[in-house]
Amino acid sequence: TGPWQNYRLPEYITPSHYRLTLHPNMTTDTYTGTNAMTFTVSQPTKYVLVHADAQVAIHKVTLEHVVGGATTYHGLKIVREFRYPEFEYYVVETDTMLTVLGDNENYVLTMEFSSSLVLRIVGLYKSTYTVPGTGEEKAMVGSDMEPTDARKAYPCFDEPAFKIRFTTTLVHEAHHNALSNMDVDKVVDRSDGLTETLFKESVPMSTYLGCFAVSEFVSLEEKSAKNGIPLRVFVPPHQKDAGQANYALDVMKIVFDFFEEYFGMDYALPKCDMISIPNFGTGAMENWGLITYRETNLLWDDRESSTANKQRVAAVIAHELVHQWFGNVVTMKWWDNLWLNEGFASYFEYLGQQVAEPTWQIMDQFLIQDIQPVLSFDSRINSHPIVVNVSTPGQITSVFDTISYSKGASILRYMREILGEEAFMGGIRNYLRKHEYANADHHELWRDVHTSLTINIADTMNPWVEQMGYPVLSVANDGTVTQDHFLIDPNADLSGREPSAFNYKWNVDLAYYTSNDPTITKAATSKLYNVFPAKQLAIGTLNPNDYFKLNPGQQGYYRVNYEVSMWNTISQQLLNDHTVFNETDRSNLMDDALTLAPAKKITYPQALNMTRYLDNERGYLVWDAFSSGSSYIRIMLESTLIYPDFQAYYRNKVKPAADELGWNASVGTHVEKLNRALCLGLALRYGDVDALANATDFFSQWIADSSYYLYPDTRQLVYRYGIADTGVAEWETMLQRYLVESVATERTNLMRGLTSTEDVTLISRMLEYSKNESIVRTQDFFNWITYISYSTTGNRMAWAWVQLNWEYMVARFGINDRNLGRLVPNIVSDYNTDVQLWEVESFFARYPESGAGASGRISAVNEINTNIQWMKENQAVIADWLATELGN
Ligand SMILES: [Zn+2]
Repeated sequence: TGPWQNYRLPEYITPSHYRLTLHPNMTTDTYTGTNAMTFTVSQPTKYVLVHADAQVAIHKVTLEHVVGGATTYHGLKIVREFRYPEFEYYVVETDTMLTVLGDNENYVLTMEFSSSLVLRIVGLYKSTYTVPGTGEEKAMVGSDMEPTDARKAYPCFDEPAFKIRFTTTLVHEAHHNALSNMDVDKVVDRSDGLTETLFKESVPMSTYLGCFAVSEFVSLEEKSAKNGIPLRVFVPPHQKDAGQANYALDVMKIVFDFFEEYFGMDYALPKCDMISIPNFGTGAMENWGLITYRETNLLWDDRESSTANKQRVAAVIAHELVHQWFGNVVTMKWWDNLWLNEGFASYFEYLGQQVAEPTWQIMDQFLIQDIQPVLSFDSRINSHPIVVNVSTPGQITSVFDTISYSKGASILRYMREILGEEAFMGGIRNYLRKHEYANADHHELWRDVHTSLTINIADTMNPWVEQMGYPVLSVANDGTVTQDHFLIDPNADLSGREPSAFNYKWNVDLAYYTSNDPTITKAATSKLYNVFPAKQLAIGTLNPNDYFKLNPGQQGYYRVNYEVSMWNTISQQLLNDHTVFNETDRSNLMDDALTLAPAKKITYPQALNMTRYLDNERGYLVWDAFSSGSSYIRIMLESTLIYPDFQAYYRNKVKPAADELGWNASVGTHVEKLNRALCLGLALRYGDVDALANATDFFSQWIADSSYYLYPDTRQLVYRYGIADTGVAEWETMLQRYLVESVATERTNLMRGLTSTEDVTLISRMLEYSKNESIVRTQDFFNWITYISYSTTGNRMAWAWVQLNWEYMVARFGINDRNLGRLVPNIVSDYNTDVQLWEVESFFARYPESGAGASGRISAVNEINTNIQWMKENQAVIADWLATELGN
């Protein structure tokens, strides 16, 4: 037994420096390297542990006792070296004890290693891309380390609490250039014809933030306003020439300057680079000073990319720039507090976008991008708290989910609402300063924010981060408010719920307005803390047609349920004049109503009555809330006899908006453009003949002539609905265009188009194509299969194919791959028959090892059970409501 039998590195070892050399060879697809790791020990030991994955071959290990810099040293005798694969350790045992050293003395463990560049798209790996025009294939090497993949690249101390200075050297061919976190110290031409790029020593940083790139990319450059820091975007020359990186650089400059002011702390490094990686597993990665992006999240082409792509680029850049402070300067102590990285980044990204694009209504879009989606996820009985125990790489990977990102962001937004902007920002800046180049947990955040407050912020916030879920507030017409843990499954077994120290109660910052109090109609709020078990609102005497609305702007992380008569008043008010509620409140009402119904808090007719006015609705936030909120009903009904009535009713509701927005996607504001794609998409889904005729017409013109211009905002709709109505020849044409397409977003559009066919032979071909990297890049594999599963026929075939090819996928991606973990739940979660449930459970029983998919599997089974029950209870009620409304 020994310290290696623990997931966490022993606390008695403190690393301080890496002297890291990497030499990737793109011809042999391998790399070699050396890492000289400086450390001290706080107690005598014979064991030094580092992380090193089995893929990293270790060739030579030396251990030195260094006194007074690197000049005087004594070699130490190593008596045993071994791997402990279960926890990915490489253990070195010495013959004599390592002891606590004096000042200016260190131990240095130096390891030589080698590995492959082409095993997976994590660690250090090779990517290839094709130069359009010449068709030449080029290679580049990039890296991706978060959360536990640095150990797949080189031996290291791979835990976030170790803050280590990197001195990096990259060896490469002369025609390549090398990038890392820091700026270049010098470039040396070696006698063997290779080039060495040496980088300056970094600030102390977590190992997962190390980044290394070797490529022929070129850059665009700006300088930051405050300190003249070079801000650069690196892309292949053809993408720079096409202007595809210009927008990213514009956003970067504005947002970087804004955050440096807003956070009250200078950016820590001498430069900041962003680079696109042609094959990239996640959206982007905030490596300090060298931020890496999937192409679709960095490149934007005026003629070829959609409005949604543009917003995505701005959002991701802003998000990664927030991390240069929240995450990189201050890092969570351990992955259980990942939200301190991702929640802050996901919240502050809105402020960055707001500055870069002030006309986007972006602060309001928080509702539909973050809080509404995560309220939906967090209403499951097997959701999890924001702060959650994690140990294994699979568990760590699994917390990179909507709870850490969107709930984290929602709770911070809520805290800002409670505290007000000034106290919030003061606290946040205090937090940054106090933990500069160090680590923190949520208790420390509360302490740093609390300094000058009258309310106890820890007491207020802990129920929101230490227990899962959130409350539904039930408001009686006399203003009495009570709270319950909101669960989407009305039959959820509460005995299976994790016990909570807060007993599933929350401190709620209540806000509301009423129709008969003009002074607070728009904005004024009433803040009440500690409402449990019940609280009385001073709403005065209400007449029958008066309403009140809690949670203005959906600032609070909770749902509101009114009495039946109040829901009726509100839905009647929406019919009479919906503009008395602003767009965020209408969106909030729609989201709450359509979610309370499946939870049996209100009836389906009550919820659906809230949609009767929609033919007058033009607001994007409302249509989005409707689209998400009603999708469950639609998916459940899709295979039933009621579906034509459902389509007919909502076809009429969306048609005025869809027709008004029209197919000329060059006109309108940013938000109108987003709404166009949404409403036309709904019209097509509901079978609007005009919309379908347009899509089919555009599609056949594009098939006949590839230069026929389709607007990017509606292009994907044209592909998806066009292909459904045509034959194999058109599909083949589309496939050929996909294969030569170099614009990343357009490849995605074409992928969605190709996978929308219902043709069995074509679907079968596509499933096998997923194994062919020249057709489906590794980064696109899971999207490709998931897209196929969106069509009725495709879903059945994708499910069968995944069952047959599970072992292939585990071998290719590893059981701890988070996308692999999500694949089966993505395909099966909408199932609603007993036979389908049996299939899914049988599959999980056959392959019990779930890796990163453990919680996803449980959710999937729960959801299918819920779906089965829902069908029994609601089909007939909804059928009656639709028949009455349609006058059938
Ligand atoms: Zn992030």
